[in-house]
Amino acid sequence: MISILGRTSETEGNKGSISMTDMHKTNAGSRLSKIIGETYMDLHSRARHGAFVVWIAINVPAELFLGFDNVVYGVPESHAALNAAKRVGPVQCEKAENLGYSTDLCAYARIDIGSVSDGGKDSPTFGLPKPHLLVSNTNNCGLLVKWFDVHHREMGVPHFILDVPFCYEPQKEKDRRYIIAQLKDLIRTIENMTGQKFDPEKAKDAVSKTDLAIMYWKKFLGFAEHRPSGITAFDSFVHMAPFLILRGTDKFVKHYRLLAEETACRVKEGVFPVPNEKFRLFWDNIAPWHQLRDMSAALAARQANIVGATYTSCIGAIEGSFDRYAYDGGDILTYLARTQNCYVCPHGMMLRHRAMMEAVQSLRIDGVIFASNRSCKPYSVTQMDQQRLLSEKLGIPSIMIDVDHADSRKYSKDAVFTRLEALLEAIDTRRAALPF
Ligand code: SF4
Repeated sequence: MISILGRTSETEGNKGSISMTDMHKTNAGSRLSKIIGETYMDLHSRARHGAFVVWIAINVPAELFLGFDNVVYGVPESHAALNAAKRVGPVQCEKAENLGYSTDLCAYARIDIGSVSDGGKDSPTFGLPKPHLLVSNTNNCGLLVKWFDVHHREMGVPHFILDVPFCYEPQKEKDRRYIIAQLKDLIRTIENMTGQKFDPEKAKDAVSKTDLAIMYWKKFLGFAEHRPSGITAFDSFVHMAPFLILRGTDKFVKHYRLLAEETACRVKEGVFPVPNEKFRLFWDNIAPWHQLRDMSAALAARQANIVGATYTSCIGAIEGSFDRYAYDGGDILTYLARTQNCYVCPHGMMLRHRAMMEAVQSLRIDGVIFASNRSCKPYSVTQMDQQRLLSEKLGIPSIMIDVDHADSRKYSKDAVFTRLEALLEAIDTRRAALPF
């Protein structure tokens, strides 16, 4: 097994539920490294042994592939995030730029195109196995479709585009029917390309597992409501990976169950990531993958903790709320179509505002960090208005910082930390002015 995040060991906690006694032996980070490593190696291995490989956008319902005997999937966006977290983002981006791709393109696209250009040479996972089919999705961003089109042209691989309407309001019935028809078409396409028959019961089992894992995920995130918070958003950023690459599996359920249990034990024992927590912050936008350690350590030193984020809260939800949208055991295509608007980017401004307001209030947030992301324009485009609305409604201090989630060359640590200091000072000033 290779080390994906620099760790290879697994603890006794992996064998089942953890107890208060063995809590200190467990390490969710170690477990995470192991399962990520295993998942990528399994993907390569199954591809070598003849599995049909699909590359998907993050919001393509991966559970459908588990309805086939021998179909596996890779997620270029998740692979790009891993490259960025391992700090090889700029190396991969430069390869794409040398091929003529603009530095203005999303860094995920540049990392992926760069990584593919030399067969995954610098990738911590040796890249992804070559696909037989590409499946993109229109509702997070249009760039992704063009990015997958590059692979379509360069590799000569078919590209299936799932067209999901943007939602200014809750998803309409006619939009749901439109998505369901396309999901049926995707199933037919894979059946025709592979000769394998889709088994709806297997896919249903996968959907049920995803739903169960999300329930544990929400439980884990819920420990942010504790004062001091039982988690940091930085934990939640790194633990998102299984949702992207392991959906619908027992391993996925187990990881999130153990994560929730481990966190519950820590909270019960009084073990907190920032025990002397004075500032509770909220993050809006994609995780700054190359800065997780530096930023969390610097904030903790100032008794500050980013306890929640739109990016991780939206998992398993639908537009306008971060609550779990539970699977009712019925038709899986209806459920999968309904949850196509899980991520934040496809939400209209007021839907985003509503969900963020609820989270900021329930987590008793002192200040909000809007991370204007040079790569992800769809996530960043309404942030000025979000900031204004939040300030008008709640009067909470906030800042806008410039980041790029995956290309560290477009990030100034000094400038960002100056803004973070300013936010903490603004929170202190506001507290001093309050009548109680
Ligand atoms: S621009 Fe944003 S939504 Fe589009 S691929 Fe990049 S990170 Fe994803």
